[in-house]
Amino acid sequence: MGKNLTSRAEDYSKWYNELVVKADLAENSGVRGCMVIKPYGFAIWEKMQAALDKMFKETGHENAYFPLFIPKSYLSKEASHVEGFAKECAVVTHYRLKNAEDGSGIVVDEDAKLEEELIVRPTSETIIWDTYRKWIQSYRDLPLKLNQWANVVRWEMRTRLFLRTAEFLWQEGHTAHATEQEAIDEAELILKVYADFVEQFMGVPVIKGLKTESERFAGAVETYCIEALMQDGKALQAGTSHFLGQNFAKAFDVKFATKEGKQEHVWATSWGVSTRLMGALIMTHSDDNGLVLPPNLAPIQVVIVPIYKGEEQLEALRSKINPLVAELRSKNISVKFDDRDTHKPGFKFNEYELKGVPVRLALGNRDLENGTIEIARRDTLEKSSVPIDSVVARIEALLPEIQENIYNKAKNHQQEHITKVDSYDEFKKVLEERGGFLAAFWDGTKETEEKIKQETKATIRCIPIDVEQENGKCMVTGKPANHRVLFAKAY
Ligand code: AMP
Repeated sequence: MGKNLTSRAEDYSKWYNELVVKADLAENSGVRGCMVIKPYGFAIWEKMQAALDKMFKETGHENAYFPLFIPKSYLSKEASHVEGFAKECAVVTHYRLKNAEDGSGIVVDEDAKLEEELIVRPTSETIIWDTYRKWIQSYRDLPLKLNQWANVVRWEMRTRLFLRTAEFLWQEGHTAHATEQEAIDEAELILKVYADFVEQFMGVPVIKGLKTESERFAGAVETYCIEALMQDGKALQAGTSHFLGQNFAKAFDVKFATKEGKQEHVWATSWGVSTRLMGALIMTHSDDNGLVLPPNLAPIQVVIVPIYKGEEQLEALRSKINPLVAELRSKNISVKFDDRDTHKPGFKFNEYELKGVPVRLALGNRDLENGTIEIARRDTLEKSSVPIDSVVARIEALLPEIQENIYNKAKNHQQEHITKVDSYDEFKKVLEERGGFLAAFWDGTKETEEKIKQETKATIRCIPIDVEQENGKCMVTGKPANHRVLFAKAY
């Protein structure tokens, strides 16, 4: 397998598309904007799911499942929600096909028109809050903290594998609370869960913040987000957590009796991360040789390639490798022994490099004589020879070292690409020359935000929440501003 990847410097976007396909993660399908996730890509997604799912459960959430279809009347109940999603909805109008009378093939049976059209869920607040009305009567029924793993459809016009697809996989949490503060605390708790997951498992550093009104989720009072920075200096929204106030409770008439016997509307949150995270993972760490996977999410953490001539030599190597495989597995390290005789070692080295396997071991006849084994790490491409007796201990230490190294590398890149700018000219110059996040004062108006977006394509990624307030003047209008916000061009 030749790698023949376009280099990042040559064409970052082309590099990404080629990498996703060549590393066997996903490919475009016959359906516009919808992808096929291949087994290797899906194995990574499953690891992400497992880690996140555990974190949700540890913070008191349970999984459930709601229908794929949402009656149009439900979607219409919360005014700003429907306004936000209407332009990208797939609508089911009929429930039957029939043979065309002129024999030209299969056509929609007009006699099978649905009385009420169904929307393929773009997100499930409406159907869930319609259900919550039946489940919530008293303060004893609260809080209700559910999550669902599902697919959703948003009719996106410009799609990219993983980053933006018309159908995507995600989890969506939907919680109901007795008080405003409790709902805000929940939205903030989930933001922290997301940030911890993305940093500790994916090795991707993020900035936590609030969205501006124009970037807010349709129907939310406040949208919290985590923003990551890709190697080309463009930002990627990696996850969102919404404080929904009482908007959906009011739209769906969900009230509860307080301890004092008063009827009050319920407070809500919703939150989601999607297969877009796969895009963030790929874009953050990979290089011109292929994928670089963090050990915490790599489906194969260690691959062993035997170098041999003939069955006899292979048997001799097996006697060393089999116990090694067993020992690594006993330590919960996922290992693959690639003893295929249909491919040469060089081909296999290339393949695992392209697929981002964190550690590669190679063992040949000379190693057998010397009692050594070659160990190669994917992140730095360094190779060394170690005594075979100490290789398990070495790997146990190396996996967390690689995890940390790729995080630190990404963190340095992020830090080097946050630039404070104080004038609009400087803003445009830095945006053009360096990209990344630009920390600038903004007067807080939609008009200024829109003007900047139109003129430079940069959007406000977030109003960071972990930074100190500063007073200054808006770089465009000169009006007073009380904090810097982060701008960037984004995926
Ligand atoms: P939202 O419900 O709009 O807050 O989005 C929830 C999560 O899904 C966010 O992390 C988004 O980045 C992600 N997301 C939104 N649209 C898409 C899409 N078309 N493809 C993949 N992920 C998406």
